[in-house]
Amino acid sequence: MEIRKAADVVASGTPNESQLNKINTFARAPLTADEVYVFSVRLCDTLPDRDGEAFAPEAIYALAPMFVGKTGILNHQWSADNQLGRIFDTAVVEEGGVCWLKAWVYMLRTEKTASFIREIEGGIKKEVSVGCAMGKTICSICGAEYGICDHEKGQRYGANICTAILTDPVDAYEFSFVAVPAQREAGVVKTAGKDAQKQAQLEKEASYGRMYRKALLRDVTKLYLLLDMGADENLIRKMAESLSVEELVSLSEGLQKKAQKALLPVTQLGGNKTAQGKPDSAFLI
Ligand SMILES: [Zn+2]
Repeated sequence: MEIRKAADVVASGTPNESQLNKINTFARAPLTADEVYVFSVRLCDTLPDRDGEAFAPEAIYALAPMFVGKTGILNHQWSADNQLGRIFDTAVVEEGGVCWLKAWVYMLRTEKTASFIREIEGGIKKEVSVGCAMGKTICSICGAEYGICDHEKGQRYGANICTAILTDPVDAYEFSFVAVPAQREAGVVKTAGKDAQKQAQLEKEASYGRMYRKALLRDVTKLYLLLDMGADENLIRKMAESLSVEELVSLSEGLQKKAQKALLPVTQLGGNKTAQGKPDSAFLI
């Protein structure tokens, strides 16, 4: 991976040839230089942030390839038409004892992005918030896993202030342009830490939800066939797939009752969830 000096000019505007080649590895159809707009952002660094957290230098290096190809969205609202740009290259910059992750982003020049591009060109600062999953957090005072020792981030211990050092990145998600708060350095900022943990948790829950739904679909289909209700498997599956999880649960419960009445052997699956609506470990196949 390339390391660049901070003296490098932050290129904004039309991509050069090597940038365009990289961009075109992500484009469905080849793009020309005047169809795209390129700018760079500072994704994260080794300086303690507002939450008293900082990235470990080795984590910055590990995150660099993980962010390539990731999407930039507006205000954390994920939708297909809210994707503003995509990271096509990253580099780790080391300067003055600080290590930071620089990302180059391309954006299509369209009517929709025109005002956004004008704002960047006009020097209106954009804060960037990144989402990533970090495997470990270390206490800067004693080196133990943060939370196990008694040190608290932001507190002073002798000459040092405790920082929670984020390390062992597991995954990088999208980055988001957020409303600009007052007085942030360089117009770009890191907010991984808690955000990342929250996001990792949300993703986990979403995947549990998908597994649970899948189990319910299987369950309902099986019951239908067991009850021999005269529909073929494809039709049943199609019908079941159009239902919400709540509908699937109640349908599955109804079918189970029916099967029990008919004295058919039923394997319990649906309705077997925890209070939060999450599946229990039985579904984690
Ligand atoms: Zn400690």
